[in-house]
Amino acid sequence: MPARPASRGRPVVVASLNRAKAREIASILEDEDLGFEVLSLADVSDSTPPPETATTFAANALAKARWAARATGLPAIADDSGLEVDALGGQPGIRSARFLGEGASDEDRCRKVIELMSDVPEGRRRARFRCAAAFATAEGEELLAEGVCEGTISQEPSGTGGFGYDPLFVPEGRACTMAELTADQKHAISHRGRALRLLAKLIREHSDARGPG
Ligand code: IMP
Repeated sequence: MPARPASRGRPVVVASLNRAKAREIASILEDEDLGFEVLSLADVSDSTPPPETATTFAANALAKARWAARATGLPAIADDSGLEVDALGGQPGIRSARFLGEGASDEDRCRKVIELMSDVPEGRRRARFRCAAAFATAEGEELLAEGVCEGTISQEPSGTGGFGYDPLFVPEGRACTMAELTADQKHAISHRGRALRLLAKLIREHSDARGPG
């Protein structure tokens, strides 16, 4: 196991190997001022999370957080998230990361969604990002929060920020894609920002109820 630098707060591990997503989680949590030292899985463990086999975002997020808490002995936070497109019957949904299989890139997946939507008129391009965020400890404490960001699918990909499907998602009330927002603008409205801010609130309430120690 890699050596850990001197502690700067209660350590909590983010259970994701997706670097862009782990960075977003760490950045949102740091703004929440929970007194956590946010560590990435690679900082504290050589283990790889098991494959996602559950059928809901919530169950996958809980399974990942539980697994990481057991593997590291530290409190863990995990998310499971994805894009639901109404005109595609909710696809890619919980298969968002695996859409088009192993070798496909974010760019391939964006291109495919836009291709599948080529005949869908403006008024029928509704979609949403969903995120379930879970907190788990090795002692069996578990908390769960969910966040949604509504929007539409653009005609063309645009922008270089964020990751995944951001270049084709136009959040409600905006005239640009998620990939054209700054990180702070994205976090303020995103499914992940919403889920993690709610999770932070639950963690605060939980530790207040538990008392010191
Ligand atoms: P998982 O939660 O690791 O299973 O993967 C979620 C997948 O959904 C990512 O790999 C992206 O393809 C997509 N996704 C989730 N959140 C976002 C986001 O904030 N922007 C763009 N794509 C996202």
